[in-house]
Amino acid sequence: MDIKEIVARHERLRLTPLPTPLEFAPNLTALLGGPNIYIKRDDLTALAFGGNKTRKLEFLLPQAVAEGADTVITLGGLQSNWVRQTVAAARKLGMEAVVVLEGEAPQELQGNLLLDHLMGAQLRYVPDVPQDLEDQEIQGSFPITGKIAEEYRAQGRHPVLLPLGGATPLGNLGYINAVDELGSQLKAMDLQADYLIAATGTGGSQAGIECGLRLAGMETKMLGISVSRHTRPKEEEIAELCNATMEFLGCGGERFEAGQISVNYDYIGAGYGAVTEQALEAVSMAARTEGLILCHTYAGKAFAGMVDLIRKGVLTKEDTVVFFHTGGGVANFAHPELFQ
Ligand SMILES: *Cc1c(COP(=O)(O)O)cnc(C)c1O
Repeated sequence: MDIKEIVARHERLRLTPLPTPLEFAPNLTALLGGPNIYIKRDDLTALAFGGNKTRKLEFLLPQAVAEGADTVITLGGLQSNWVRQTVAAARKLGMEAVVVLEGEAPQELQGNLLLDHLMGAQLRYVPDVPQDLEDQEIQGSFPITGKIAEEYRAQGRHPVLLPLGGATPLGNLGYINAVDELGSQLKAMDLQADYLIAATGTGGSQAGIECGLRLAGMETKMLGISVSRHTRPKEEEIAELCNATMEFLGCGGERFEAGQISVNYDYIGAGYGAVTEQALEAVSMAARTEGLILCHTYAGKAFAGMVDLIRKGVLTKEDTVVFFHTGGGVANFAHPELFQ
């Protein structure tokens, strides 16, 4: 079945102009002396400084609107790009936003958190969320936000819960659509990409990309650079997400195995959000060569992975690589000390 037809069968809320640009990165390509590097500018989506979550929200939110929701509730870290983009989308739709933030209330609001506050989100802090509860929130069983939703229901409101990261079969359509878009852009530029590289958090974007590549019949290989650890290996989680997404789309015959999914864990450092020398070098390199603003938590770690794989000769001069810039530069304002 045609990828465009599959995407068009689901309502998409227009939260951002698409396609995002696909740009050649000549200075970076020259500096690294390696593959031709192109940047897919998903940092340029249009919700409150952009990022990859906007594509997912475009497919997730029509359902909330149809259900008559007046309040969106979700969870994330203090510098969550997911939370920021969700708050912006909720506001655009005239809804209240309640965000459950993992951590202590900081002295000073900065970066994403400042923007959440500016958009009038209700901020609720929950310190020390255990990994398994966070994983359940990602998978949509809501052990934490579900209790908060009860409070709002008791007040006569109609809350909708969105899972951290938006990695549901419906949300994953955002990145299936992105692959369709990228395919057209590559064709127009007379290019074939050997590799796509992106930061992998919940794995929803990677799952969407994997499904998109399969549906579009593209040979391009997806390399996810993991930025966090979950309870289970991400290859398994992503393969399951892909299978659930394909079933949801009526393409259940297309199956994925964990062994077909490529996730690299070499650049996480001590964990999610942990500072690594390589990520700091990557943030600086992208900024100085191409004026691209990455963060040390997501795109910076993925970029560090790409640079290292080039230096090790895994990605060669003959290759064409598309790096998905998934956004997140806003978080730098919360960590000026890292770059001074
Ligand atoms: C959320 C996020 C990711 C990871 O996307 P997933 O779909 O959760 O894997 C990557 N980069 C940035 C900047 C993000 O905010």
